[in-house]
Amino acid sequence: AVVVHRRMKKAGKWVKAMEMVKDFEEKCATPLSRLRQVSDAMIVEMQAGLASEGGSKLKMLISYVDSLPTGKEKGLFYALDLGGTNFRVLRLVLGGKGRGIINQQFVEVSIPTSLMTGSSSDELFDFIVAKLAKFVAQEGPDFKPSPCRQRELGFTFSFPVVQTSIASGTLLKWTKGFSINETVGRDVVEELTKAMERHGLDMRVSAMVNDAVGTLAGGRYANNDVVAAVILGTGSNAAYVERADAILKWHGPLPRSGEMVSCSSLIPISEHSIASTSFLWKNRVANGISLKVINMEWGNFKSAHLPLSEYDLELDAESLNPGDQIFEKVMSGMYLGEIVRRVLSWMAKEAAFFGDTVPPKLKVPFILGTPAISAMHQDTSPDLKVVASHIKDIFEITNTSLKIRRVIVQICSIVATRGARLSAAGILSILRNMGCDTITEGEERRTAIAMDGGLYEHYTEYRKCLVNCLNELLGKEVFESVVLELSNDGSGIGAAILAASHSKYIGCYD
Ligand code: BGC
Ligand code: MG
Repeated sequence: AVVVHRRMKKAGKWVKAMEMVKDFEEKCATPLSRLRQVSDAMIVEMQAGLASEGGSKLKMLISYVDSLPTGKEKGLFYALDLGGTNFRVLRLVLGGKGRGIINQQFVEVSIPTSLMTGSSSDELFDFIVAKLAKFVAQEGPDFKPSPCRQRELGFTFSFPVVQTSIASGTLLKWTKGFSINETVGRDVVEELTKAMERHGLDMRVSAMVNDAVGTLAGGRYANNDVVAAVILGTGSNAAYVERADAILKWHGPLPRSGEMVSCSSLIPISEHSIASTSFLWKNRVANGISLKVINMEWGNFKSAHLPLSEYDLELDAESLNPGDQIFEKVMSGMYLGEIVRRVLSWMAKEAAFFGDTVPPKLKVPFILGTPAISAMHQDTSPDLKVVASHIKDIFEITNTSLKIRRVIVQICSIVATRGARLSAAGILSILRNMGCDTITEGEERRTAIAMDGGLYEHYTEYRKCLVNCLNELLGKEVFESVVLELSNDGSGIGAAILAASHSKYIGCYD
């Protein structure tokens, strides 16, 4: 009788666990109708963010990049790419006259967590500049800049910054794993420049850009059809080319930037799907209209239409930045694994999913990274060996049954699917805003979007799901005019190229 009772209890627990999974799946559901609502809401916020400073959760930051690379950029330039768990130092030699990149080298360094959440801005910037100085010190004589100029640097700083020029801007807030109060409100170019002075490094920051903007620039350097960029990495964001006269909060001059030709130049107004935004593009001519690159900061998007579960709310409440970056927290690389961990941990507690006690490691925040859920989700071995070994290595849980491992895969899939489909809804919003979500018969048009970030690059199921979903949202015909282009390391390369086009020394090359 005891055995029977125990079995019944166990069966009851399993039923409970399956109910929890089902409930979670329902809360994360992203049918097309829901994604369209999300996209509608995002477009409304985009407009509000363009209309006035602080008008929306979407900051829609003006980048001061008024002309994108043309291929004529020439010379030796550097970039510093800071934003995720690693930072990169790059050196690029640009050939000019469309010759492209002649030489490219980089080092990648991981940033100690203690510096990311420490209290001193100087410590973080000193650490970065020390690596940069070392990189420069070790380079051979081939890389001396011509005698009439200093070394110049493009600084990719992947956080929300209100810029006041191409090479200045104050940090609004930190995101992702960073939190150093001191830096907020400061000019980050100044912080970097001061650190370079402290290290006796003679270098000038000639452009500062967000990684989304850098990726757009790098993407455009390689492909003229690029009009937007999306980052799916530790964090998430997008940038795109907007008409300056549609940016109501912009009161500065409207320079002509003929190099930024956009896809929608050919679309008549009647073709636009959203009346409220169509005016943006109606007088578009192929050349000569002033355009600006907008850093959306879409990670901070929030809407009642976003499918959120109690696990997401809990994650947000316990995060470094509660209430902020809600869109990012359901779709980007920093959080996907953590959501899965939270679901599993509640299942362990409420439904004894891993036996009578909750395995202690399951309670450790961020112990389950997105690379692990990607590996488990994509485990093709019949007995889910990869899942078993990850669960053992990460959580020290040794005796998972196949049944349990299948459920784990299902949870990974629910989380990744929601994230990927929401990214697709974000991309749809950009395309709609530019009038690129429709196409006239016989029109030959390519809308390219430069994609960067480890999540997009390495998590194949996520990427496939995003692409399929975009196809569903756009319909086959329009979808075929859209190209998602992996722009590997585009953000750093783009910054170096922008450093070239914003060089103080243009004209002093041999
Ligand atoms: C930041 C953005 C950045 C994105 C991707 C977000 O957390 O707010 O500025 O572009 O991460 O790195
Ligand atoms: Mg990056």
